[in-house]
Amino acid sequence: RTSLMVFTRDLRVHDNPALVAAAKADRVVPLFVLDTGVLRLDYTNANKGAFLAGCLEDLDASLKQRGGGLVVRRGRWVTEVTKVAEEVGADEVHVNADHSGYAQRRLEALGERVELTVHQGLTVVEPGAVTPAGKTHYGVFSPYFRAWEKAEHREPVGAPRKLSVPRVAKGDLPSPDDIAKGERAPDLAEPGETAGRRLMQAWLKGGIDAYDERHDDLPGDATSRLSAYLHWGCLSPAELVAKAGRSAGEQAFVRQLAWRDFNLQLLAHRPELSHEDLRPKGDRWRQEGGDFDAWREGRTGIPVVDAGMRQLLREGWMHNRARLIVGSFLTKHLYVDWRLGAAHFLAHLLDGDIANNQLNWQWIAGTGADSRPNRVLAPLRQAQRFDPQGDYVRRYVEELSGVEGKAVHTPWELPDDVRKDLDYPDPLVDLDEARKRFLAKRQSG
Ligand code: FAD
Repeated sequence: RTSLMVFTRDLRVHDNPALVAAAKADRVVPLFVLDTGVLRLDYTNANKGAFLAGCLEDLDASLKQRGGGLVVRRGRWVTEVTKVAEEVGADEVHVNADHSGYAQRRLEALGERVELTVHQGLTVVEPGAVTPAGKTHYGVFSPYFRAWEKAEHREPVGAPRKLSVPRVAKGDLPSPDDIAKGERAPDLAEPGETAGRRLMQAWLKGGIDAYDERHDDLPGDATSRLSAYLHWGCLSPAELVAKAGRSAGEQAFVRQLAWRDFNLQLLAHRPELSHEDLRPKGDRWRQEGGDFDAWREGRTGIPVVDAGMRQLLREGWMHNRARLIVGSFLTKHLYVDWRLGAAHFLAHLLDGDIANNQLNWQWIAGTGADSRPNRVLAPLRQAQRFDPQGDYVRRYVEELSGVEGKAVHTPWELPDDVRKDLDYPDPLVDLDEARKRFLAKRQSG
């Protein structure tokens, strides 16, 4: 028998349930289709283009070591997969599930054309495996997490040692520009499963133990930075959970992976949440304005906000605490639609993910699963707590790199003669007034 293994965002050979199942056939053809349908979505960006190209190169090398490299096609996903299945005479097609509305429609359409098996490789606990009584999914994290902890976690499977790959026209691996043109951030993470596994091993041996205490430390940068590898499936969340032990740091880390599963199960059942509010509050968000541009460029005049926004532009990644601060500032102080903030994130993030990005934006905008939807994070208090000496701000906001200590968070309080040489803007809004305006809007809406 011949099987076709279709890689999507599961770009790994370790713990890949679809690959392991496909490898049981006599011959296996590993395929990646660069889906022109996905390329048209605003979800693709130049940073991701470079990362994906690197992931495919790495995967191709790993597959070659096992018996034969990746077959690459470009076009409409369902059409191309069907064509290759016919070309190679595939008796069975294997793929790992994905849960956005687009991915679900794509899988359904493929299932009508080929002998398809969909495996669960994206999550630890698959969407729908734990549910509240009488419902298809959870809308609140805490009860979800209690059920998730007790549920069966998928057992990781090893990497197949040998694949018997028949001769098929391979097609060229795409270059970054083939995927998405445009300027790329200068400091992007190294792509691919090999780099991801190296980082994972180091994290499991080192940083994870202090994760519970240090994950909010902005300059300490003490989170795993595994998100892009998890987004592209270079790493398996089930393997991470299986390898994490019982220390407080390890358990706090596992809880974050459960958040990822939580968002995926919400999106799987409510694909419209990518754009529609989970719990509408009657907001009449602003849709544009110069202050939105200032936010995107990191010129709001609030140093900790600008540092986060510039980290995004420099690295295609932002610290979670900074994502919370800039998201709260945009939606609550500037009262701009969370969808615009989410779109800007998707235009730059390497880990930009419909489930995690859109639902975290909803959370911070107070239209999502947050139990305190009207909470407004105070940027200055956040800065004092999570960047007490100002090192995070100085790292990303060059104009302020010469201001010492915590004074960097309030440049408007510096003596006039120092301030005038800084070339740094005044705050866009009075933080206190903006907070009150938002609360009044929510109370009247
Ligand atoms: P760690 O703290 O080391 O966490 C480990 C892993 O757990 C992460 O890699 C991620 O897969 C998962 N995780 C952590 N926090 C969350 C969370 N709050 N929700 C869901 N999963 C989580 N994460 C994305 O992967 N893609 C996004 O597009 C994304 N957009 C976000 C937008 C906003 C406004 C906010 C507030 C958060 C967003 N997050 C997103 C969640 C979180 O910020 C990132 O996962 C995290 O910063 C990635 O860094 P890390 O790998 O070092 O995380």
